Amino acid sequence: MVKVKVDWEKCNGDEVCVGICPVEVFEIQDVADYSDSKKSVPVRPEECILCMACVTSCPTEAITVEEE
Ligand code: SF4
Repeated sequence: MVKVKVDWEKCNGDEVCVGICPVEVFEIQDVADYSDSKKSVPVRPEECILCMACVTSCPTEAITVEEE
């Protein structure tokens, strides 16, 4: 089981992860309590293949991916 987490305090909604994830784990959405920008939401974490492209590409280092 893979856990994909986005720290919404750091996420600026620039969609780098959406563009780089080969299996479309992320979607950009409006999230309650965060009005500064839209946020990346890991809507399909079960698809993750642990390539770590999102982790290394996120400009604000908001994403963590761990195998449980
Ligand atoms: S580690 Fe790779 S497959 Fe998993 S969410 Fe990030 S970009 Fe997508």
